Amino acid sequence: MSDFKIQPSQRLLRLPPYLFAKINALKHKKRQEGIDIIDLGMGNPTDPTPQPIVDKLCEAARDPRNQRYSVSKGVLNLRRDVARHYHERYGVQVDPETEVVACIGSKEGISHLLLAMLGPGDTAVVGDPAFPIHVYGVALAGANVISVPLGNDEAFLERIRYVVQHLYPRPKLLILNYPHNPTAMTVDPPFFDKAVALAREFGVAVLHDFAYGETCFDGYKAPSFLAAEGAKEVGVEFTTMSKPYNMAGWRIGFCVGNQTMCEALGTIKGYYDYGIFQAVQIASIIALRHCREFVEEQAQAYQRRRDVVLEWCERLGWQAEKCRASMFVWARVKDEHLAGRSSIDFAMRMMEEAEVALAPGRAFGENGEGYVRIALVENEQRLRQAMRQIHRAIGKKPIKGTPLRKKRPANPGRQTQARQPSEVNIPDE
Ligand SMILES: *Cc1c(COP(=O)(O)O)cnc(C)c1O
Repeated sequence: MSDFKIQPSQRLLRLPPYLFAKINALKHKKRQEGIDIIDLGMGNPTDPTPQPIVDKLCEAARDPRNQRYSVSKGVLNLRRDVARHYHERYGVQVDPETEVVACIGSKEGISHLLLAMLGPGDTAVVGDPAFPIHVYGVALAGANVISVPLGNDEAFLERIRYVVQHLYPRPKLLILNYPHNPTAMTVDPPFFDKAVALAREFGVAVLHDFAYGETCFDGYKAPSFLAAEGAKEVGVEFTTMSKPYNMAGWRIGFCVGNQTMCEALGTIKGYYDYGIFQAVQIASIIALRHCREFVEEQAQAYQRRRDVVLEWCERLGWQAEKCRASMFVWARVKDEHLAGRSSIDFAMRMMEEAEVALAPGRAFGENGEGYVRIALVENEQRLRQAMRQIHRAIGKKPIKGTPLRKKRPANPGRQTQARQPSEVNIPDE
């Protein structure tokens, strides 16, 4: 016998533990047992893509010209429509040739931009809690993450300023995300003006994830980072087709703004991929041009669902803000319901006893402890049913002892294997 052993790279070994692993494994097991788990854990839209977009995809897929490799940074016509959209909606001028890059979903774009911008010895500042790829993407690039308790105000920017002033080498990149996932936190335009000023003062680049820019409620209009004066000199913004157009599975998003950063992303993508299926790019042009109304209707649907969930949160005694945007309600679970245990244990318990999947706040960072994220991805009736089941399960006495812990996934190697990317399946949305 040889002692031959395959070793993945340090890059994978230094990934932080994937805290969704345990809960995803339980969800999978329950489903295999035929249990109808209502999944409010993952931010995966369940509503269909608008018909005209699907029709265009089918038509374009039949054209042999679209069946070849495309351009890795996206076809120019699509980038032009993205630029036009920015101008019409936010009054922002960008050059489609040099300041727009199409990506295979914004997650791919964010990951590869981080790889293009950061390496060993570099540092990025990220709010806590955070959307997982904002942390994992930095780690995979070999760089370090500095977590700062999340906020949406002056105090948050002050915390960032402190870190930037006192760390050596100075952080290279600041990752922002408003409307925020998982907390649904939002900002108003002055916040971005101040962020740009801070970035300029210290020479820190900015990556703004704007995935929920079009999913706004009660008349709120989420500001684009790029609309802040001078923003293009310091950073880029990522948008996606996944959320506004229910195109999560199609894999298309955009990086817009700073030319150097767009170029860096374009270069690395040129090495790694051949671009998005051209039929998907063409269908996305139709979406951007003709589906404005749909985007608004979809946001209204999320707003109604938010209200349903908020009503039940109140009944449960869970504190939750009436959020102005995003696809989530971020709720503080009542202490009595947590019963001294973690949000991960609580989410496991809800899966067992309420047959509802929730995302435990702790999985998004230390500051998420005590919270759950409820994704508004099911219709109102099913959301009501889910919240009723939670209410009922909580009404019962918590089971004493720790029976949940015995119900670990069958494969004992899973916990360690969960650090490998195939198992990690990194963030869930
Ligand atoms: C859903 C989501 C995305 C979108 O990812 P895609 O790869 O474009 O599907 C990006 N950022 C955040 C914060 C999200 O919630």
